[in-house]
Amino acid sequence: MALLNQMITRIKPSPTLALMQKVLEMKAQGQDVIGLSGGEPNFPTPQNVCEAANAAMSSGQTKYTAVDGTPELKQAIIEKFSRDNQLDYGEENIIVGTGAKQLLYNAFMVTLNPGDEVIIPAPYWVSYPPMVQCAQGECVFVETRRKDGFKLTPQALQKMITPRTKWLCLNSPSNPTGAVYTKQELQALGEVLQPHPNIFVITDDIYEKIVFDQQEFHTLAQVCPDLKERVLTVNGMSKTYAMTGWRIGFAGGPAPLVKAMKTLQSQSTSSPNSMAQAASAEALRGDQSFLTLWVQDYQRRRDDMVTRLNGIQGLEVFVPQGAFYLWVDCSGLLGARTPTGQILESDMDVADYFLGTAQVAVMPGNAFGMSPYFRISIAVAPELLTKAAQRLQQAVGKLEKS
Ligand code: PLP
Repeated sequence: MALLNQMITRIKPSPTLALMQKVLEMKAQGQDVIGLSGGEPNFPTPQNVCEAANAAMSSGQTKYTAVDGTPELKQAIIEKFSRDNQLDYGEENIIVGTGAKQLLYNAFMVTLNPGDEVIIPAPYWVSYPPMVQCAQGECVFVETRRKDGFKLTPQALQKMITPRTKWLCLNSPSNPTGAVYTKQELQALGEVLQPHPNIFVITDDIYEKIVFDQQEFHTLAQVCPDLKERVLTVNGMSKTYAMTGWRIGFAGGPAPLVKAMKTLQSQSTSSPNSMAQAASAEALRGDQSFLTLWVQDYQRRRDDMVTRLNGIQGLEVFVPQGAFYLWVDCSGLLGARTPTGQILESDMDVADYFLGTAQVAVMPGNAFGMSPYFRISIAVAPELLTKAAQRLQQAVGKLEKS
């Protein structure tokens, strides 16, 4: 009898985490590799947040907490949703988890029956499809188009709806493209969903605070109040507050769904980390002014790298409106011959070539469900970004074009 079940044999480890691990190993071997494949801010966690964790530890807040989060953190989250998103939630609507990732996983696990469908616009964050598969759901991918800014259109959504549709999964600002949905675009999607009371929506707002060019962030439950009872609004501390290692995410949604997610959590991981929860309450309630500086910094890096990469023949960058990634069309490199005689046939070949020749790690678009593209993170020190762009330029210069 085989040890592993069918579910785990169907899914693969996270490709982004795998490549980050490979970069760490290459660095440990002494190689001068620049990792642009990960998704975590290069800023340190703010000092007031670290101090709140220290204070929690010193004052004995080192025990299990309520499964769905401490009353203090839940209150800070209720205030955040009200202040930033004009969303009115009670305690019964809020759950804190070990990262947004756990909450997304919980939501799929407690709602999907075998064969239920989840509409996922592509390109997508790498973990949505495996999570849906773990929960025995079916992914229904909708390829978005560059001319639509890589955003799902109402027409495309309409076409994908079936009697088995359980969820639509929206992510704005998007990982990997950085696309940000406007209020009108969300309302137009909401209109399509209106006559389908059995369809629920996950909005993954984890990059909410990282938006450029004075663009305003909107979330579906806010702009379509009559859908609020069908929306799970997911957010977290990782990206906004540079708290990836603290592992705290949160979500607001309909009470019966939140209760079921809490039940699953109570039988799997129990409460999230107590000190990290105290730190998160401070992050949400404390000074936010550093964020303006961080976002300005990301925007400068974006502008600089867009110019540099667009200057490399064969690459074309989609200018992101948010998050901290660049989504790069590399179709212009396909068919080219490398110095060792290999023909670049896919974005995976391009990423391998860049890692081997330029020692720059980029994530192939294939991992996000769209080719031929690659994603780079700009949440990396500017001098490393500049060096990476120069290396990519040199590597492309060595190719023999078809
Ligand atoms: N959602 C998106 C779109 C992400 O990019 C990530 C992390 O990369 C997550 C969720 C998970 O975040 P967390 O660290 O809170 O689990």
